[in-house]
Amino acid sequence: MLVETVLNRGWHHKGFVYEGARFEGKALVISVRPRKGSRGRCRGCGRPGPTYDHEPTWRWFEHVPLWGWAVFFEYRMRRIACKQCGRVLVETVPWASGKHHTTDMYRCFLASWAKVISWQEVSRRFQACWQTVFRSVQYVVGYGLEHRDLSDVGAWGIDELAWRKGHEYVTAVYQIDPHHQRLLWVGKDRRELSLKAFFVEMEKAAEGFAGRIRVVCSDLWRAYVKVIGQVVPQAAHVIDRFHIMQHFGKALDKIRAAEVKRLRAKGQRPLLTKTRWCLLKRPENLTDRQHARLGELLRLNLRTTRAYLLKEQFQLFWHYKSAFWAGRFLDLWCRRVMRSRLKPMKDIAQMLRKHREPILNWFRLKKAFSCAIVEASNNKFKLTIRKAFGFRSFEVLSVAVLHQLGDLPEPQFTHRFW
Ligand SMILES: [Zn+2]
Repeated sequence: MLVETVLNRGWHHKGFVYEGARFEGKALVISVRPRKGSRGRCRGCGRPGPTYDHEPTWRWFEHVPLWGWAVFFEYRMRRIACKQCGRVLVETVPWASGKHHTTDMYRCFLASWAKVISWQEVSRRFQACWQTVFRSVQYVVGYGLEHRDLSDVGAWGIDELAWRKGHEYVTAVYQIDPHHQRLLWVGKDRRELSLKAFFVEMEKAAEGFAGRIRVVCSDLWRAYVKVIGQVVPQAAHVIDRFHIMQHFGKALDKIRAAEVKRLRAKGQRPLLTKTRWCLLKRPENLTDRQHARLGELLRLNLRTTRAYLLKEQFQLFWHYKSAFWAGRFLDLWCRRVMRSRLKPMKDIAQMLRKHREPILNWFRLKKAFSCAIVEASNNKFKLTIRKAFGFRSFEVLSVAVLHQLGDLPEPQFTHRFW
């Protein structure tokens, strides 16, 4: 069987013929020519037009490697005298978009691997340079963003993440409808402007986008809260469990660190070292050793212990069904904490009081909307950042996370093998 037969089976292009294959060094080169009487399509407008002349040199387009050999299509581009555009332009070919020297299918192939292994590994395995891998993922993401359907978005969750060392942040917006959850957008920083940029972009992609929003889940970050109030005033604002519990984690860390310092200053045994996880994890997730350690801790009446117990008690809050009773619990809990003399916990209580309504909204909406997806993605997001993808710029980061978490539609081919 000839290589052309294989190619024609899964990778046939109307108006073009595979003419033959040969080896050149370690590469398999397949010549392509236009079918007799066919007309090339103008790069400017996409319409077929008469051939003006041919480019002086053959172009090579890298395709999916076959059995360890690099594969190239060799083709001499026609220049089209286009009436529509009123000038001579190079034709556009169906196997590679833009000015790319990699076929669209090869780019999809590389991108599909880049979803499961690191970009560096893809580049090493297929002997493609890092740039090619990046461009491939960028192409697939670009296609996906252009073709995704945003009409079913009724609820979002907003989150902010630290990126790179120092205090650089990115804002991530997720769709959190029960029927569809995905990352919609990432933007630099966590200022009002960041979120406003999101609205502008979404409105451009899908008209009436903001008007369809019914629920927004977010952290208590002031900049976000303000913009949400301005742009989607009709939406119910929910401050969800994940974000609130994050504050508890931070408060506990503070109390514990201060206490370690205090005990050390007094020359006491460092009881609290290596206990961070015992205190932050839910009790049911602890290992046996951590469990024993926690028991030891609880017997001592430390500030840390008291804070821990308050946090555990607060977990009951999430089990309420009615917003009314949850609210009663919240008020009682806050009153108790305000008498506790634990400053970081008091800060939380004050915050909860201030945002009582958006917190109770979660119960009012029957717990249907939460940032659980945000929480899960948050970890994946961090992993994507950590997985030495060679991030140098925000652009690369944004392409990588949208590729991983955006649930984007992909270019379709008649033949798929990944
Ligand atoms: Zn044209």
